[in-house]
Amino acid sequence: MSLVVRGALWIGLFLGVTIAPLVFAVIGAPGPGRGFATEFSAALGFVGLALMGLEFALVARFRAVAAPFGTDALVQFHREMGLVGLVFVLVHVAISAPWDLVVRPFAEDTPARVRWALLSTLALLVLVASSLWRRRLRLSYEAWHALHAVLAVVVIVAALMHALLVDHYLNTAWKRALWILMSAAFVTLLVWVRVGKPLTQLRRPWTVERVTPERGRTTTLTLRADGHPGFRFAPGQYAWFALGRSPFSLTKHPFSLSSSGEAAGTVDVSIKALGDFTATVAGLDVGTRAYLDGPHGVFSPDLYEGPGFCLIAGGVGVTPMVSILRTFADRGDRRPVLAVIANRSWDEVTFREELDRLAARPDVSVVHTLDEPPPGWTGETGHVTADLLRRHLPAGHRRWQYFVCGADPMMDAVQDALVALGAAPARIHTERFNWV
Ligand SMILES: Cc1cc2nc3c(=O)[nH]c(=O)nc-3n(C[C@H](O)[C@H](O)[C@H](O)COP(=O)(O)OP(=O)(O)OC[C@H]3O[C@@H](n4cnc5c(N)ncnc54)[C@H](O)[C@@H]3O)c2cc1C
Repeated sequence: MSLVVRGALWIGLFLGVTIAPLVFAVIGAPGPGRGFATEFSAALGFVGLALMGLEFALVARFRAVAAPFGTDALVQFHREMGLVGLVFVLVHVAISAPWDLVVRPFAEDTPARVRWALLSTLALLVLVASSLWRRRLRLSYEAWHALHAVLAVVVIVAALMHALLVDHYLNTAWKRALWILMSAAFVTLLVWVRVGKPLTQLRRPWTVERVTPERGRTTTLTLRADGHPGFRFAPGQYAWFALGRSPFSLTKHPFSLSSSGEAAGTVDVSIKALGDFTATVAGLDVGTRAYLDGPHGVFSPDLYEGPGFCLIAGGVGVTPMVSILRTFADRGDRRPVLAVIANRSWDEVTFREELDRLAARPDVSVVHTLDEPPPGWTGETGHVTADLLRRHLPAGHRRWQYFVCGADPMMDAVQDALVALGAAPARIHTERFNWV
């Protein structure tokens, strides 16, 4: 089945689940309605709850769901749907809340359904605010992630309790059963990600075999599959890593695989020291245990046919590109590749020598551009622009596939430049390292 058809089916399922609660509510609704405002508000609440539940599915790292869209697009959609769900819930609350009771949640005559609604709404507000303003609130990624996971479960469970206690729409056993089933499905997703998957990883450990310093504050770890065959990956894909940690640890880090997709039993990952965890990687010992969840991602020439490929990377965004070049070399793939590699200085070019080696093949050319070139530099300087690309792309490049990975502003500028050069947006593929 083509990716487009699969994407359309997932979108259909998403819409189906979003409106399913309304169908449950309407089928066999008891007696006459309770006026437009109340019915409308209840509908908003039900759809808001379904959207919140679907948020789990969007980030549950299901390869089949991510394949047609790409993980970064799913994460972006997760973020936007969270805001849409919040609007639904807030309008529902604004219309229906018995404010005289809401303001005194601990009073004896305040019904439990109001308390659950309040808890769910407050948890949702904190969840959204901490996500929107994580950096401003100076929350570390790890602390934010733990908070996010706990609040998400509180939002869903409390909202479900509220809906069950309101009773008007959930007054028959089968409707309650349907709701409980739907909620259980969402929680099962969470349990699968946090317990089921780590359990499978526990049986497939990896060991750090080599720690190699690279230019540009980057370290390559070579990991060997320990007692199992490892996995096959398409060049450009990434995996989630628990390095020196249990597979059950809440925070795992995503890194692109930098080795050839044809190597069996080992994978390389090249990590730039950019934050508190990545700064510790250079100090990891040989023999450190690691657990991998992967491969993931659709940023790979294996997924898109093309007569040629243009790889454009900034800084550590070179890692998936090196994997692509190494894999093509191992496979003897003769389709032309142009790699445009942007860095601040010549000394910082991660994989500089390896890129030289790979560029020795007649079908590969590597163009470096530097912000701060050394004296006597005759190559390209400055940002990757349409003019720079025009100087190096061959005739017929419009039918090529383009892969772009780097800092966000660079990626946005390069995407615009490629469109200006006539590349179809469907042929421009991006991997963003900065999701949150
Ligand atoms: C698909 C993908 C592929 C990547 N490939 C590479 C690669 O090959 N080499 C490389 O050096 N970097 C890569 N990164 C970036 C890398 O994951 C982050 O730099 C790293 O997780 C930062 O962790 P830290 O604790 O050192 O930094 P922090 O200072 O804690 O965080 C810096 C930023 O990194 C992001 N981040 C931190 N922890 C996580 C996490 N657990 N999950 C997701 N994002 C996080 C957040 O946006 C955060 O603001 C990739 C990212 C993604 C999404």
